[in-house]
Formats: sequence, structure tokens, C-alpha cells
Amino acid sequence: MANGQLSRAEALACSDCRHACHVMLYSHTTTQLFGRTPIKHIILMQMRFDGLLGFPGGFVNQSQETLEAGLCRELMEEVGVALSVSEDDHMDARRAPATSPSCPRLITHFYVKKLEEEQIREVEKASASTAKDHGQEVLGMVRVPLYTTKGGGGLSSFLSHAFIGNARSQLVHALLRLRLVEPEDLRQALRDSLKTHARSEVDLQEALTEAEREPS
Ligand code: AMP
Ligand code: MN
Repeated sequence: MANGQLSRAEALACSDCRHACHVMLYSHTTTQLFGRTPIKHIILMQMRFDGLLGFPGGFVNQSQETLEAGLCRELMEEVGVALSVSEDDHMDARRAPATSPSCPRLITHFYVKKLEEEQIREVEKASASTAKDHGQEVLGMVRVPLYTTKGGGGLSSFLSHAFIGNARSQLVHALLRLRLVEPEDLRQALRDSLKTHARSEVDLQEALTEAEREPS
């Protein structure tokens, strides 16, 4: 497949690779922000223990479980709800850049699963109450704003945050493939996001200067 992407079968053919599976849970919604801006779709991501945004999921124990069974186990731990994710929900797989010597050959699988809005609410409730990983591996679920506000915020600001691995590109890819955002709106949000990023750098520099002024 193109762009370093692998099919599920190609990925599984790599016998000495570790596999991690993550899923984008989403639903349609008719809710409007401030009663006028259509929200259109609810997409769930999470704030992780490492301060980065990502999708729910994690490492699969390949000797003991299928990719999908491993993903469902991780989902149970992270969001506290039993959800069935199948091979049909597999969207793509790719090799992760070798970041740690302990895990040199990692393949990340990405799934998308459409739920009813009510089920999304259940996931949000369970993830903040009964989920085992709440407050530890997972600091909270967040919804992705897909609209652009009058001030230019929304999707562009969200995209300028820091993401784990290739989670940002998985999000962008899914938005395009599922047509959850118009391609030109997404391109504009990404251009605006680059500007937000540049402003953040100035902000961070100021915060550091201030912190360095504090006596230790
Ligand atoms: P986790 O157990 O969720 O931290 O994921 C297992 C591995 O996959 C870690 O090495 C992460 O760096 C990586 N990872 C986590 N989330 C994603 C993601 N959305 N996309 C790509 N890689 C990820
Ligand atoms: Mn995880």
C-alpha cells in the first residue's frame, strides 16, 4: 500500500513486530454549539498519562489474542465499556518510527467505529467513573471540535496540540476518508494550526522567562 501504509494482512506477516491497536469512536450528532454552530460529529480522543493526545487502545499480546481482541481488552481498561471492534473496522496500519530501543519494530493499527450518540455518552460516563485506567493511564476523554469559530479556533487549535505517535495523522486521515470535514476546511484548519503553533512558541518562551525569574 502507498505512503508506508500496510494492509492488516501485510502487517501481520511481520513475525518479529509488536503490534499496537487504537480506535476512533465517533457518532453523528444534531447538537449545535451556542445554538447556532452545528457540531455534526462527536469524535473521542483522550488525554494520556504522558500529557499527549491519543486514541484509546494499546499493545496487543500477539501470542494470546487477535488484534481485535487485544484492542477490546484495552478499550475495557481505558473506557470501561465492552465494545466489539472487528476486522471490518480496520482502517490502516503503519510502521511506527523506532523511538525506543526496547521496542524497535512497532506496527500501529488504526480502527474506526461508528456508535450512536447515546453510546458515546455512555463511554464518556464510564471512562470517568468505572474504567480501571481512569486517573492513571488515561486522564480524561475529550471530544474533537470539527468546526471553525468566528475567531478561527476550533479544529485548528485542536490540531496544534501535541499528539502521541502518528495520532494526529490518523485523525486527519480519518476525517478525510469518512468525509467528516470538507477537505478544503481541513486544509485551512491545518494552515491556521501552523500559525497557532508559532504563537505558542512565543507564549512558551515568555512562560519560561517568567519561571526563570522565580527564585529556586
Ligand atoms: P499505548 O499502550 O496506548 O501507549 O500504545 C502503545 C504504543 O503505541 C506506544 O508505544 C505509543 O507510543 C504508541 N501509540 C499510542 N497511541 C498511538 C497512536 N494513536 N498512534 C500511533 N501510535 C500510538
Ligand atoms: Mn493506551
